[in-house]
Amino acid sequence: MIPFGDLKRQYSEKIERAVIEHMKQGWFVLGASLASFEKKFAEYCGRKYGVGVGNGTDALFLSLRALNIGRGDEVITVPNTAIPTIAAIRATGAVPRLVDIRDDYLIDVSKLEKSITPKTKAIVPVHLYGQACDMHPLLKIANKHSLEVIEDCAQAHGTKYKGKKVPISGIGCFSFYPSKNLGAFGDGGMIVTDRKDFEETLRLIRNYGQSDKYHAKIDGYNSRLDDLQAVILEAKLSLLDEWNGRRRKIAQFYNSALNGIVKTPLENDENFHIYHLYVIRTQRRDELREYLKNVGIGTEIHYPIPLHLQEAYKNLGYTPDSFLKSEEFSKEILSLPVYPELTDEEVSIVAEKIKGFFGNK
Ligand SMILES: *Cc1c(COP(=O)(O)O)cnc(C)c1O
Repeated sequence: MIPFGDLKRQYSEKIERAVIEHMKQGWFVLGASLASFEKKFAEYCGRKYGVGVGNGTDALFLSLRALNIGRGDEVITVPNTAIPTIAAIRATGAVPRLVDIRDDYLIDVSKLEKSITPKTKAIVPVHLYGQACDMHPLLKIANKHSLEVIEDCAQAHGTKYKGKKVPISGIGCFSFYPSKNLGAFGDGGMIVTDRKDFEETLRLIRNYGQSDKYHAKIDGYNSRLDDLQAVILEAKLSLLDEWNGRRRKIAQFYNSALNGIVKTPLENDENFHIYHLYVIRTQRRDELREYLKNVGIGTEIHYPIPLHLQEAYKNLGYTPDSFLKSEEFSKEILSLPVYPELTDEEVSIVAEKIKGFFGNK
């Protein structure tokens, strides 16, 4: 059995000790452990500030709110992202406008300008699967139209674009959902930024809008990263680069083993892809998936239904054929196991079974 993911393999006694020590000291919300991890993770991303929040969806939602984006506004993103990206935009009351993708599964910046209207306030590029969007041309367009850019970095902890870690714009939203490249023992999220005003507003909003105890300065909410999760995440952060390196090794192995048999992922020049997901494409996707399941190999589809075809978003007014690339790819993509704890033997078994399926031994 080679499961698609196996979080048990990441358990360590170092984390166990850190958790027990933390539980004994008796401060659990907005404490020193959260402050310490906020500082360390912001530093890791090359940013001044980190604001820990309840999850990645809230990181996006609270960022949009802190920028006063909501009812009457439009926010641009892509149809092939995870549901939380669009859920966060909708929760603000803003209307998501979608832009199709390229062969690398990332936003097609050449189609961006056509989707900008007088109501557009922001772009949410998604660094999907662990690879950065084409940020320099995107930022040029955003600047030209005075749009905010809020990067969905939920799959991109350590991803680089032209040698620099994401976010490339002023705001990056991360998730620490357990299966992400840096995962908590539960939900968690963070916004990293260099913008002081924005950071201060976020700190208020995530804590009921309170500036100090029992004093409400602005409308707020409750969404904080637990100190206990911060302790776990800080213990894991020192291993993140090593884990990302291992994911890249596994991806290279799959690339050379499967090249010419299925469509392997494109890694753009001057990009550092951290392979949160390793996604292949084949027209025989469902058959291959069933075959792998029967030989004990777990796979997933990220994602099977583009957002504009989801029941909840019918009222956006899109139809089948609105985003041809996203629709075509959703029928052909398959995610293979790619976590750092996979053994070399397991990785080669996955590749061999896929070759076997296509009659290529
Ligand atoms: C996981 C994920 C999120 C949100 O994460 P949660 O922490 O589960 O709220 C947002 N965007 C993308 C692309 C994700 O993969």
